[in-house]
Formats: sequence, C-alpha cells, structure tokens
Amino acid sequence: MAVLQASHLKKYYGREESLVKALDDVSVSVEEGQFVAIIGTSGSGKSTLLNMLGGLDTPTSGGVQVEDCRLEDMKEEQLTVFRRRRIGFIFQNYNLIPYLTAYENIVLPVRLDGKTEDKKFLKEITEFLELDHKLANYPSHLSGGQQQRVAIARALISKPAIILADEPTGNLDSQTSDKVIDLLKMTSRKFHQTIVMITHNPEIAEKADRRIRIEDGKIHPAEEERAAGSDNRTFEQTERTRDDWNPRTDRENSRRKRA
Ligand code: ADP
Ligand code: MG
Repeated sequence: MAVLQASHLKKYYGREESLVKALDDVSVSVEEGQFVAIIGTSGSGKSTLLNMLGGLDTPTSGGVQVEDCRLEDMKEEQLTVFRRRRIGFIFQNYNLIPYLTAYENIVLPVRLDGKTEDKKFLKEITEFLELDHKLANYPSHLSGGQQQRVAIARALISKPAIILADEPTGNLDSQTSDKVIDLLKMTSRKFHQTIVMITHNPEIAEKADRRIRIEDGKIHPAEEERAAGSDNRTFEQTERTRDDWNPRTDRENSRRKRA
C-alpha cells in the first residue's frame, strides 16, 4: 500500500530565459515501510522533490498525497500540524536548537503540539540511539554523530508515518555515517516507518530497498532500481509480528475512538 504518492510534480523558478525546471513532471509512489534512497548530481532537484513530498514547499503544479491526505487541499495551519504529526524531517545540518538540551530538542515537536511525550517510547528510542546518557547536554557539547542521532530521535518521537531525510550524513565521517544510517534503518523497521532519504553516498544508497535517480528534474527511468535479491515486499509486510506501535493501527484506533 502506498503511503506517499506524488503525481506530475512540477516546480519552476523564474521565467523565460531564466526559467529553471527544478522538477519537471515527477510521479512516484512509495510503499509503506520502504526505505528509498534518492540519488543524483547536485542541482538535479532532489531537495526540491523532498521538500514537496513533505509539504515544506508547494509545487507549481501536480500533487502529493500522504496517507489519505492531499497536501494541496490543506490550509497552511493544517499543513503545519500535519507535518509535525505525520512527517519526521532530518537535515544535513541537524537543525537543533542551540539553547535547548538534547532532551528538550527531542520532545519539541510533541510539546509544540501541546502534548506530553510518551516517556516509555522516548526511553526506548534514546537507548536505542545510545543517547540516554547525553540528554542533558546542549548540542555544542555533542559530537556530530550524536547531534544527528538527537535529530533522528526528534524525527521519531511523534511516531510519524514517514521520515524524510536530506543528506543526513553529509557532515559526518564515513564510520559515523554508517552507524547513523544503520540506526535509522533499524528504528524505521522497528517502528514501521517509511524513509525517503537523499544521499550522495553510493554505499549508503546500496542499503536502501530502492533507489530513485533524479536528473535535470526528472526521474531517470533506467535507474529506478530495487535492491538486488529483494522482492517487492517490505519488511513491514514480511515481519509484522510485534504489537509495537504501528502508525496504521494507531490511526485505525484513533479513527475508531472518534467514531
Ligand atoms: P539538489 O538538492 O539535487 O542539489 P535542488 O533541488 O536544491 O537540487 O535544486 C534544483 C534546481 O532548482 C537547481 O538548479 C537550483 O538552482 C534550483 N533552485 C532551487 N531552489 C531555488 C529557488 N528558491 N529559486 C531559484 N532556483 C532554485
Ligand atoms: Mg539538495
């Protein structure tokens, strides 16, 4: 089942001679639980695509559907709330708030939503990300890898259906970036999340279930590939064994509650 669908996305900047087609008719569908890598040269349109998928920017034309919501139908405030609850963003520069501790940074999206964090879940993810002894530290007293793990925990805390990451390991050394990617992959599997991640690093792209190459604002058809030996089923479908938190069940429960 597709959790994310983009249809005929176009993003044009400027006009006439200075027209830039940052995205030129991109359609893509991502299955629940899939780990997708977006690859392509600098300036090819990767960040533009990711920003459209997460509703951080609006397309010139075309649309994006996340779960059962069409982003273009939402008003700005609705979109803000939707993003905070359903989408976790991870950026190259971590985007942590310097005057908040690791703990405060992690719980920020939940607090902004007027809620209290799920303490048990927080403990679980911070232990998993090996941050449990660093929670009182300010970002300036954390290594790059630790800061990025704080950003990952922040992206996970609201239990979003989708994680969108723009070159999350771009500022990390190769050993640290390997570890961060493995953790991201493991957490997303554990919590049944879908990941769409931009990367320049071929070794990281190899770890994905599927790779999409963007070239001049278009998907390069020959380069749409799935990991060797993997069938089309995702981990989500093959290994839905635990009764851990699951975005779908969660959603169904809340729907039931409302009904
Ligand atoms: P990538 O992430 O693959 O490096 P981007 O998506 O950032 O590429 O950019 C795609 C193209 O769109 C580039 O040619 C870039 O210069 C252009 N672009 C991106 N944002 C803007 C903007 N705000 N105004 C004008 N051109 C832009
Ligand atoms: Mg970019």
